[in-house]
Amino acid sequence: MISLQKVCLLKERVKPKLNITVEPQNKIVIIGAGISGLTIAYLLNKLGHDITVLEKKKEPGGSIETVIEKEFLFDKGPNSALETHPLIGQLIKELNLQDELVYANKEGNKRYILKNNELYPLPMSPPAFIKTKLFSPSAKLRLIAEPFIGRSDDGYYESISEFVKRRLGKEFLDYAINPFVAGVYAGNPEDLSVKSAFPKLFELEEKYGGLIIGTIRSIRERKRRAEKSKQSAKMFSFKSGMQVLPKTITKHLGKKVCLQSDVVSIKKNGTGYQVAYHNEDGLQIIDCNKIISTVPAYAAADLFGHFDKDLTKHLNEIYYPPVLVLYLVYKKEEIGQPLDGFGFLIPSRERKSFLGAIWSSVIFPGRTDDTTAAFTLFIGGARNPEIGSIDKEILISKVKKEFELIMKITSDPVFMTYKYWSKAIPQYNIGYIEHERYFDEFEKNNPGLILSGNYRGGISIGDCVKNAEAVFSKCRM
Ligand SMILES: Cc1cc2nc3c(=O)[nH]c(=O)nc-3n(C[C@H](O)[C@H](O)[C@H](O)COP(=O)(O)OP(=O)(O)OC[C@H]3O[C@@H](n4cnc5c(N)ncnc54)[C@H](O)[C@@H]3O)c2cc1C
Repeated sequence: MISLQKVCLLKERVKPKLNITVEPQNKIVIIGAGISGLTIAYLLNKLGHDITVLEKKKEPGGSIETVIEKEFLFDKGPNSALETHPLIGQLIKELNLQDELVYANKEGNKRYILKNNELYPLPMSPPAFIKTKLFSPSAKLRLIAEPFIGRSDDGYYESISEFVKRRLGKEFLDYAINPFVAGVYAGNPEDLSVKSAFPKLFELEEKYGGLIIGTIRSIRERKRRAEKSKQSAKMFSFKSGMQVLPKTITKHLGKKVCLQSDVVSIKKNGTGYQVAYHNEDGLQIIDCNKIISTVPAYAAADLFGHFDKDLTKHLNEIYYPPVLVLYLVYKKEEIGQPLDGFGFLIPSRERKSFLGAIWSSVIFPGRTDDTTAAFTLFIGGARNPEIGSIDKEILISKVKKEFELIMKITSDPVFMTYKYWSKAIPQYNIGYIEHERYFDEFEKNNPGLILSGNYRGGISIGDCVKNAEAVFSKCRM
C-alpha cells in the first residue's frame, strides 16, 4: 500500500510540471499540524483552496497527545477544552464526532484550592463566597471597594499580579488568581501581562470601569454574539481522548496533510515562496504563494529569521517554560479524599513541588476501570523552571509523596507515567504587546507570510480555533 508520505512526495515531485498548469497564487502551505494549523487547513480546504500541511512529527496534534496504556487513557497535553466559540461545535458536527464527544460531569464545576494542606472548594456563587474559609473576612470586605477603583495609568504594561492587587487585594491574588494562572498558563502572575494574557479581564476595566459591573454587562453582550464566556462554556473531551480531534481533521484532509515532513527553510521565489522540507525520502521543495506558520515562536524564528533580524529577536523573546505532566492511577479504596471535583490548584505561597492536579477519571467517563482513579499532575512552569535540570525520578518521587498526603492516599499507584515538555506554553509576559505589533508589521511588509499559532491570540484550544478563523478570513482578503 502506498504510504501517506509517499503520496505527498509524489505530489511535490511533479511540481515543476504542475507549475505550468496550476496558478501558484492558489497554493497555500501551512506549517504545523497542531490544532491551529489543522483548523486553518480545514476551513481553507472547505472553500476549495489548494493547501498542503507540513508536520514534522509522526502524528498530528502538536501539544495535543493521547496515549492508552494498560487500559488507562493519558492525555499528555490538554485534558479538556471549553466550547467557547461556535466553530468548535461546527467542527465536531461536520467531522461526525458527536458520538465521540463527552462533556465533563457536573463534578467538573467544583474546583479546590490548597491552603494549609487542606482542600477548600473555590466559591462559585455569592452565598458560597460569603461562607468560604478560603478568604478572610477582611479580604471579602475589600471586594466591596472594587467598583470604586479607577483605571490604571499604564494598563498596557501592568502585570496580572499588579492588576488584581490593585482591584481586588493581595489575598485574592494569592488564593484565587495565583493558582488560576498556574492552572492556565503554568505561569507567573508577576510576569504575565494583564492586557495580553487576560484580555477579557483587561477589557472589563477599560470598557466598563470595573470587574463587577463589567461582568454583568458583558454577559448581555456575549449573549447577543452567541459567544460563551470561559466560565459558562461547556467543558468537553472525547471518549478516546483529546487527540481524536486533530487525528480526525487529518483523516478528513487525507493526502493534503504530510506527516514526518520537517520544514527546514523558506526562500522568496519571485512573487511567491519556496518551502524546503525533509521527509523519509530526503529533501523536498514546494512552491507556493502563501505560507501560514503555526509552529511555536522559537521554531518560527529559525524559519523566518532571515527575512528580518528584529523578527528573530521578537520571536525568541517569547518564553516557553518547561512542564512535566505526571499521570498516576490508584485503587479507589486507598484514597481518603472524596473525589467530587475537577481537581485542585496550589497557590505558590503553599510552597509545594507541583502546580496542581486534575482528577481525570472523575471528570470524564471511561478513563480507567471502575476500581481505580486517575490523576494528572502538573509540575514546573514559570513558577519552577528549574525542573529542567532536576533528576526526573527524584522530582517525581517528591511530588508523589506530597500528592498522596494531600489526597490521603495510603498505597503506591498501580500505574504511573509522565511526559516532559521542555518548552510547554508561551507566556504572554509584560512587553508582549511590542511583539504583537511587530508581528502585524512583519505580515504587512511580507505579503503572503502569516504568523499564527498559540503565541498569538490565546493559548487555549478554544482561542486557537477562534484565531484560526481569523487567519482564514485574512487569507480570503
Ligand atoms: C501540558 C499542556 C497542557 C495544556 N492544557 C490545556 C487545556 O487543558 N486546555 C486547553 O484549552 N489548552 C491547553 N493547553 C494549550 C493547548 O494545548 C495549546 O496551546 C494548543 O494545542 C497549541 O496548538 P498549536 O497548533 O497552536 O501549536 P502546537 O500544538 O505546538 O503545534 C505546532 C506544530 O508545529 C509542528 N512543527 C514545529 N516545527 C516544525 C517544522 N519545522 N516543520 C513542520 N512542523 C513543525 C510541531 O511538531 C507541532 O505539531 C495545554 C498545553 C500543554 C503543553
